Amino acid sequence: MLAMPEPKAEIVARRAEIVAALAARVGAANVISEALRLKAYETDGFSAYRRVPLAVVLAETTEQVAAALKYCHEQGIRVVPRAAGTSLSGGALPLEDAVVIGVSKMNAILEVDFEDRLARVQAGVTNIGITKAVEGEGFFYAPDPSSQLACMIAGNVAMNSGGAHCLKYGVTANNLLGVTFVTVEGEVVELGGEHLDAAGYDWLGLITGSEGQLGMVTEVTVRILRAAEGARAMLVGFDATDVAGAAVADIIASGIIPVALEFMDRPCIHACEAFAHAGYPLDAEALLIIEVEGSEEEQDALLAKLQAICARHGPSTMRIARTAEESAAIWKGRKGAFGAVGRISPDYLCMDGTIPPGRLPEAMRGIGALAERYRLQVANVFHAGDGNLHPLIMFDANDADSFARAEALGADILKLCVELGGCLTGEHGVGIEKRDLMTAQFGPVDLAQQKRIKTAFDPGWILNPHKVFPLEHA
Ligand SMILES: Cc1cc2nc3c(=O)[nH]c(=O)nc-3n(C[C@H](O)[C@H](O)[C@H](O)COP(=O)(O)OP(=O)(O)OC[C@H]3O[C@@H](n4cnc5c(N)ncnc54)[C@H](O)[C@@H]3O)c2cc1C
Repeated sequence: MLAMPEPKAEIVARRAEIVAALAARVGAANVISEALRLKAYETDGFSAYRRVPLAVVLAETTEQVAAALKYCHEQGIRVVPRAAGTSLSGGALPLEDAVVIGVSKMNAILEVDFEDRLARVQAGVTNIGITKAVEGEGFFYAPDPSSQLACMIAGNVAMNSGGAHCLKYGVTANNLLGVTFVTVEGEVVELGGEHLDAAGYDWLGLITGSEGQLGMVTEVTVRILRAAEGARAMLVGFDATDVAGAAVADIIASGIIPVALEFMDRPCIHACEAFAHAGYPLDAEALLIIEVEGSEEEQDALLAKLQAICARHGPSTMRIARTAEESAAIWKGRKGAFGAVGRISPDYLCMDGTIPPGRLPEAMRGIGALAERYRLQVANVFHAGDGNLHPLIMFDANDADSFARAEALGADILKLCVELGGCLTGEHGVGIEKRDLMTAQFGPVDLAQQKRIKTAFDPGWILNPHKVFPLEHA
């Protein structure tokens, strides 16, 4: 179990006064203080840990975020920024003595400029909401986390989120142009702008992926892209995960960049097939879903090249979609993978680590050996093209021993990723989940520099405390 901080008794004792002060600044209708309503905010997507917050502010404007932050800063009250609460690393997990400041009411599309290919939106617009706002004109917003129906752009910026299609288009950082940012003192600054480079320091580089540690984002300007003419997927089955891993390394080495290159192992194939009936071959040890896009001719040429590369590795199945409907059928199982694994296990931990794609076979062997050692089942589904692994560790939360083994297995898998030349997180962030593993990735000098940056932005360390930095460093 991860150590959680003791709440500050003097802050908890002042709850009524703090709620009244916040209500005076942002309006009573935007403050939640009733026990039952607060419970809705007690956790996020990392639901093994829960803490009911002191109060929740659901701001409607940048000025309200600034007013709430300024008050909390002056009073030394901890703040947990929150968007949709889908973080899988406990990034939005509250604390009993902290005020959650949420942006879910800030959900307006402020500006769309098709000529300059950008959209400016409020922080609480969902990821899919951006694409919905521009798809009528043939555009889309590229980063596509599987949680895109729910997760919000502020959360995406804070976690530098990615998705299946980021192999070609990059993650949030590569599609972000500017943000409106509120400092812990309540000052509002504009970082970046409306074009790819901005004068001065690369502030956006610092803010992206900063997990609510440095300040709050209230508006976001992103690049929008013209959608390709069409896309088609192919499904390739292999008798061994090693061989599938080698095929992935070969595809990447060939210079072809598919839009997506996804991997599923045997436990995952079986769970997905039972759930979605996508027609996956149940005798395969590993499946790849590879998607390409472009004109019909481009798709045909790329699929033919990919077919030839895969054929060199002796696949047990190869299915190439001829239509958009056949592509959707191939994706159907993969898209429901998390839900499918949820059906066969009372609980699962979704890990997120990255390795160089060429080390996939070693990673698969290592994860298999670790799962055996900890006597737990692991289903692997991941973005193979960019080496972003998502081992799903199945366990039973009602059995303390099973949970302890699942956490220990997860930690060892992430350390394995680091040993293989990768890193602790691909897209889900460090949050509380990987906080104590940071020393596996960073030395004391690295961590000290990161702490200096945190202190420069947040001298009192009130923003999203007890996350990201190992406890002894916080
Ligand atoms: C089923 C499922 C599938 C997922 N698939 C993917 C995936 O494919 N790719 C991926 O990258 N992630 C995925 N995730 C993880 C999660 O959806 C992402 O991390 C997402 O970006 C979180 O967005 P959110 O709006 O839910 O943010 P939250 O969970 O509310 O917050 C995330 C972090 O952002 C901070 N934050 C929130 N709002 C602000 C703000 N206004 N200013 C500053 N900091 C802020 C929080 O403090 C926290 O640290 C998945 C999650 C689930 C449950």
